Amino acid sequence: MKEKILEIIGNYNKDKTRLLDMLHDIQNVIGYVDDESILILNQELKISISEIKEVISFYHFYSNEPMGKVNIYLNNSVTSEMHGRGAVLDAFEKECNVTEGSVSADGLFGLFPTSCIGMNDQEPAAIINGKIFTRLTPYRVHEIVKSLGNGIKIEDLIYEGDGGGRNSLPEIHSMVCNNIRRRGALLTHDYKFFDTTNNLLSEKSPQEVIQIVEDSNIRGRGGAGFPTGIKWKFGRKAEGEHKVIICNADEGEPGTFKDRVILTEFPEMVFEGMVIAAYSVGADIGLLYLRYEYKYLLNYLNGILDKMRDKHLLGNNIDGIEAFNFDIRIQLGAGAYICGEESALIESLEGKRGEPRDKPPFPVEKGYLNYPTIVNNVETLASIPKILTKGADWFVGLGDKASTGTKILSISGDCNYPGIYEVEWGTSIKDVLDMCGAFNIQAVQVGGPSGALIGSKDFGRNLSYTDLPTGGSIIIFGEQRNLLSDVVMNFMEFFIEESCGSCSTCRNMPAVLKKRFTKILDGKGVQSDIDDLINWSELLKVSRCGLGQTAANPITTSINNFRHLYDRLIQPGIEFDTGFCLEDSVKDSCSAVGRQPTLHHM
Ligand code: SF4
Repeated sequence: MKEKILEIIGNYNKDKTRLLDMLHDIQNVIGYVDDESILILNQELKISISEIKEVISFYHFYSNEPMGKVNIYLNNSVTSEMHGRGAVLDAFEKECNVTEGSVSADGLFGLFPTSCIGMNDQEPAAIINGKIFTRLTPYRVHEIVKSLGNGIKIEDLIYEGDGGGRNSLPEIHSMVCNNIRRRGALLTHDYKFFDTTNNLLSEKSPQEVIQIVEDSNIRGRGGAGFPTGIKWKFGRKAEGEHKVIICNADEGEPGTFKDRVILTEFPEMVFEGMVIAAYSVGADIGLLYLRYEYKYLLNYLNGILDKMRDKHLLGNNIDGIEAFNFDIRIQLGAGAYICGEESALIESLEGKRGEPRDKPPFPVEKGYLNYPTIVNNVETLASIPKILTKGADWFVGLGDKASTGTKILSISGDCNYPGIYEVEWGTSIKDVLDMCGAFNIQAVQVGGPSGALIGSKDFGRNLSYTDLPTGGSIIIFGEQRNLLSDVVMNFMEFFIEESCGSCSTCRNMPAVLKKRFTKILDGKGVQSDIDDLINWSELLKVSRCGLGQTAANPITTSINNFRHLYDRLIQPGIEFDTGFCLEDSVKDSCSAVGRQPTLHHM
C-alpha cells in the first residue's frame, strides 16, 4: 500500500496545496485515511501529523477511522425533514442494521447525517458512495439496500435519464432533476456559448470590459452583493507575479441549489465569465472550487474545460490575444459550509482547514498563495458573457435601480412546484409564492438560515439588495409547521455543526442560545429568557466572519416576526428564574466543536 500512497502523492508533484486531492484519492483506495498514510504524507510533504489530522477532522467527507463499504450520507436539512427524512432514516437503520452516525458491525454500511446537499427541491436525498439519490422513500431504501446486497453496483441503481437536461449525459449520469420552472435573461437559451470571447474580447481593452461590467451595476450573486465591476477594478490595479480568478461553486447555504443547475446546463457561460474576468484583471490562474456534494458533475465539467483548451479558449494567447494566458483547474471540496466564505475557500484551496482569514488584507490584495485574487459566484460569472454581448443598458433595464438584472431563486418547502425560478430583482415575496403554487403559508425563510424568517405581514416586500437580499434560497413553511421546534431548532443545530470553532463567540454562543431556546420549547421558559436570547444574540456580531455574525438570525428574526409563538410557550407571570446553567452550556458547545472548555470560572 505504501507504493500506492507514494504514487498518489507523486501524481500531485508532492504539492502540499493539493492535500485535499491526495486525501480524496487515499480515501478512494483504502476507504478512509489511515495512520500509515498520514505518516507518509507527513514525511513526503513535510506537514506535521497533527496538521494533517486537523485537516481530515475539519471536513465532513474525510475520515481517520474505518468507514463502511457503502457509506450513506443522509441530508438533514429542514426541507428533508419536512418531506419524510424520519421514515427514510428508520428504513436505512433497519435495512442496514446500523444506527445513524456509525458503521454497521459487519462493516458493510456507514450511515451519517450531513448538512444540505443542494437537493432541497427533491428531498429526502442522500449521497451514497459519492452518488446522489433523490426523492427517497422507505420502499426505495429497501430496494437500494437489497440490490447492493445482491452485488449490483451503486451507479446501476440510478434511474437513467430521470433528471432531464444534461443530467442524462453519460458524463453526469445522474437522477438529479433540474426543475427549471421559470427562465429569465440568464437561463434563456439566446446566447451562443463563447460568442463574447470569440468575437468581442479582442476588440475591447481590459479597461473597457471592466467599464461595461461596472456600468451594468451587477453585484455579487452569492449573497454579499459587492459590485463586481469595482472588484475587478481593484483586481486590475493590484500588483502581483500572478493573479487569480476563483469561481466559488461551494453553495452550501441550506436551501440553495441554483448553482447546481447553472453548472449542469450553463457551465460554458460560467467558464467564459472566468476567462473574461481573467482578461480584465490580467489573471493567469483560474480555480473553480466545486463543493463535494456536486462531485457527480466533476468529470463533465473537466470535459468542457478540455474542449475549451482544444478551441484555444484556454491556454496561451487565448483568442489570439498576445500574452493572454489563462487556464482553469477544478478543486473538489470535502464538505464544510464555511468554505463558502471567500477567505476560508482560499485556505481550503491551499490544502488547509477552511478557516476564515482576518481581513484586511482582502483577497483582492493577498488571496490564493498571497496573489491578488478575485472570488466571484457561479451566477455572477455566468451573467458576464451576456452583459458583454447585450450591453450594460440591457442589464440595467432589468430589475430595480439598486439591484439590476435578474436573480435565480432556489425555491423549496411547502409549495406545489419547488425548483428554479429566475425573476427580476424587485419581485415581491407574494408574487414568488403565487409562481410556485404556495398556499396557506405561515412563513418564508429568505436567504437560508443566515437570512430572515418572515411572516405574512412582510410578503409584500421585495427581493432586493435594499429590501430583502438573498443569495437565492427561499424556503416556504405552511400553516401546519412548527416554526420553533422544527425550523429554528434545525437552523441552530446547523450553525453549531458548521462553526469552524476559531472564535469563542461563534464556538460557544449558538450552543448557549440553543440551550435557552430549548428551555422555552420545553415549557420552562420565562420572560427574561426571551430577553436573554435577544441580548446574547448581539454578542455574536463580533465574530470574525459571516457565519458567526448571522448564526443568531434564526432566533432573532423568529422573535421579531413570530413573538406570539414564544409568548405562548413561556410561563405566565414569571419574569425571571435562575434555572439556566451557563457552565453546562459552555461544555456542550465545546464538545460540539471538539474543544476544551475555557470558561471554568463561570
Ligand atoms: Fe469560524 Fe465562526 Fe469565527 Fe467564522 S465566526 S471564523 S465560522 S468561529
